[in-house]
Amino acid sequence: MAESYDILIVGAGTAGTYFGWQMAKKGYSVAIVERHERERVGTRLDVFHVDSHAFEEFGIPEPERDAPDFCMVMEQSTNYSPEGRYPKVVRYPFHVMRLPPFLQRMFALAEEAGVDFRFSSEFAELTYEDGRISGAKLRKGEDRYEIKTRLVVDASGIGAVVRTSLPEDYGIENFRIGADEKFYVVLRYVTWLDPNQPRTIALDGWTYYKTWLAPSYHERGALIGVGATGSYERAESILSEFFETIQLPPYKVDKTERGVTPYRRPPYSLVADGFVCMGDSACLTKPFSGEGVTSAWRLCMIAAEEVDWALRKEEYLTAGSLWKINERYFKDQGAKFAGILATVPSAANATRKENRYLFRKDVILSEEDFTDMNRDFEIHMTTGKMIKVFVALIVGLLTGDYSWASFKALVRSVAVSGKIRSLYEDYPTDSASLPEWTEKAEGLWREAGVKMG
Ligand SMILES: Cc1cc2nc3c(=O)[nH]c(=O)nc-3n(C[C@H](O)[C@H](O)[C@H](O)COP(=O)(O)OP(=O)(O)OC[C@H]3O[C@@H](n4cnc5c(N)ncnc54)[C@H](O)[C@@H]3O)c2cc1C
Repeated sequence: MAESYDILIVGAGTAGTYFGWQMAKKGYSVAIVERHERERVGTRLDVFHVDSHAFEEFGIPEPERDAPDFCMVMEQSTNYSPEGRYPKVVRYPFHVMRLPPFLQRMFALAEEAGVDFRFSSEFAELTYEDGRISGAKLRKGEDRYEIKTRLVVDASGIGAVVRTSLPEDYGIENFRIGADEKFYVVLRYVTWLDPNQPRTIALDGWTYYKTWLAPSYHERGALIGVGATGSYERAESILSEFFETIQLPPYKVDKTERGVTPYRRPPYSLVADGFVCMGDSACLTKPFSGEGVTSAWRLCMIAAEEVDWALRKEEYLTAGSLWKINERYFKDQGAKFAGILATVPSAANATRKENRYLFRKDVILSEEDFTDMNRDFEIHMTTGKMIKVFVALIVGLLTGDYSWASFKALVRSVAVSGKIRSLYEDYPTDSASLPEWTEKAEGLWREAGVKMG
């Protein structure tokens, strides 16, 4: 006999656990199945960053200063040109945290609210009734069991095990996130050799290489990171190029961490009958940094409100009754992310010389720009700033510091980015209009030159 829960979540990462906690607090019965044993969850990463304002925004208790998940508050970051010049300081606080103990704290909060965690349990397949999802079959060691539910949530991370198992015609894209649609991150945890080296308390970034130096969890430590498209080999080779130019104080490497984040547009719909996907399984990472924790919580919050509303009215949640999740997400954060993602090809193609010039002239990399990007996911351009950028680019063209090819690519990408953002802001109010909308979106993504499945 199958057990029964209102909500079944696959994956106890930051997205699944947060959503489960929200739903349990609203009084629903929630099971979260997680393939790893409790202590192993989240150990694929160690140190991660959370925007400091996120704790209040998402109602998560801030860690105590002596708690195992807290490292420090990083008050500012500085971005540099490829040779480490023209610093742009950004005062925007992040909490530097440790993921495994943070998740353990989240598990305790969720359990207190009534979530039933099933660790060491793996999702095997979905079950259907009358062609619609009715639950899932799960594996725990040699045991097999089944859970019936009103809603299955895919929060299984970049593998998207549930979404990718759905039939082609279920009303949601079932693509796998391809090798060329990932951001390959390599992190070296280092200890400074000089005992007098001041503690690394802020982040330094070099946008040309997509490398950074960040605080670690101990006094004499730091993290040297790089993110690249393509492969880990490419990320490592960029890191070598970076080390050839930028001199860091002497250090020893304690450990190297490698991981991938999605780097592609989300599915055009995040919901289907009896189903919703969130977190990395839905490609919700910030296109400008690859971070995905808080951006997923935004969708989780919307989904918690809409699922609660729908469950009060209906026994079974159809795509129609969940549609507001799509609408609210894509019209706001989704539209901003889509607009930024469309500019990635032109930004990524800027040469070393051009990147240096943009820093020197304070064109698009001023303090306000980075702050806006972190806080609002968009850059607020005043007319004065726009004129300044335009003049700098024209001067760059005349002096040869900026090429015509890059200028044309930039103008094209800004135009298509605006169109993509507007289209997402005009996301359809019902599933019947999705095919027509999708056709327009496909055309714009092609125009942007972003490879999208
Ligand atoms: C090196 C690196 C550094 C990063 N740093 C940051 C950062 O500083 N800030 C930030 O915001 N983001 C960061 N990110 C991105 C962030 O880690 C992810 O966006 C986020 O963790 C995704 O959360 P999630 O819950 O969607 O997925 P996950 O954390 O991947 O959780 C999914 C869970 O599902 C489980 N699962 C998978 N398959 C099954 C199955 N078949 N059955 C049962 N369970 C299953 C997994 O075991 C896992 O526990 C970083 C990523 C990398 C790679």
